Amino acid sequence: MSNTLDLSPAAYAGSPDAVPLLQVNGLAVDYLTTEGPVRACADVDLTVRRGEIIGIAGESASGKSTLLTALTRLQRPPAVTAAGSIIYQPPEGAPVDLAALTERQLSPLRWQDISIVMQSAMACLNPVTTIGAQFRDVLRRHNPGMSKAATTERAAQLLRLVGIPADRIRSYPHQMSGGMRQRTLIALALACEPELVVMDEPTTAVDVVTQRHILDQIIRLQEQLGFAVVFVTHDLSLLIEISDRIAIMYGGRIVELGSAQQIFESPLHPYTRGLRNAYPPLTAPLRRLTGIPGTPPDLRALPAGCAFAPRCAHRMDVCDLERPKLLPAGDGVAACHLHPAPAAMSSTGEGS
Ligand code: ATP
Ligand code: SF4
Ligand code: MG
Repeated sequence: MSNTLDLSPAAYAGSPDAVPLLQVNGLAVDYLTTEGPVRACADVDLTVRRGEIIGIAGESASGKSTLLTALTRLQRPPAVTAAGSIIYQPPEGAPVDLAALTERQLSPLRWQDISIVMQSAMACLNPVTTIGAQFRDVLRRHNPGMSKAATTERAAQLLRLVGIPADRIRSYPHQMSGGMRQRTLIALALACEPELVVMDEPTTAVDVVTQRHILDQIIRLQEQLGFAVVFVTHDLSLLIEISDRIAIMYGGRIVELGSAQQIFESPLHPYTRGLRNAYPPLTAPLRRLTGIPGTPPDLRALPAGCAFAPRCAHRMDVCDLERPKLLPAGDGVAACHLHPAPAAMSSTGEGS
């Protein structure tokens, strides 16, 4: 690597001309607690390109859901975005900073441009209206003149897309299985043909066979329709199977980012290696599972240096003194003193 390497997110995204769908810069999210603000996401830089699947993995409490709800502006108090921008480039027109929009300005973008699939379908679907009525609500938000017959036809089409018989539009959520409800949420998320679908553990609540079925459908639909996906889970092996690129979160920060292949074959950060060993790919040869010793950090009392240091087998003196920056290393980017930046660029760092 030369000393003139451009570390800007656009450069790291590959083509300097490519306008990303979403460009997150320096995002920070605080929970305002009675004991003061707790920073659950810090310095997050992330690029989402059109039509890619980007996975976000990390143990419980690493900040994955906090990041997703901030990205989609669905966060509720006590969470507040404390810093950063989320630049969204719509298919037509000028880019907008989602972090700076009012709820009124955001409304036309919801479902139409960006939609979200949460872990618990039961909590997201309205228990007292039929599935058909819920599709009608979403479709009419963006197309108020759509007739009942047209919304019914479109709802049936969307349900078929996720492998659910069209006559289910007359069902109530409680009359469906967990897997069917989850697939219904995915169909709803796709109703207005969004550019970006954000998924927070969309298959955690269903059994393994249904999970596989739903994942296959997500990948097939993504290939067919071309939307981008940000997919969150703690299960790294699952992400390696479905993602183009993967970001690893620890203590509210991205500590490694790279292609799925790089994360699988040559993870740079000791935490990523630990996650990979804790969730080996289904297709890999059988071997003993090793968890990551220790517990996730307390966000109210993060160490001055590397947050992973208390659990790291490679800890060095510098790890306790300096927080490692996210910098290019090998084929990806990592925040770890095992991968120091070349001297000339030690003062800056960004991941894409
Ligand atoms: P999981 O895998 O369990 O879903 P996650 O990676 O999605 O975890 P988050 O739910 O984003 O993690 O939580 C990140 C941190 O923010 C945690 O330390 C959590 O305790 C804290 N947090 C979440 N919600 C609140 C809240 N309402 N008030 C204060 N802190 C919160
Ligand atoms: Fe381990 Fe140091 Fe790297 Fe942190 S910076 S992961 S403590 S080697
Ligand atoms: Mg979560």
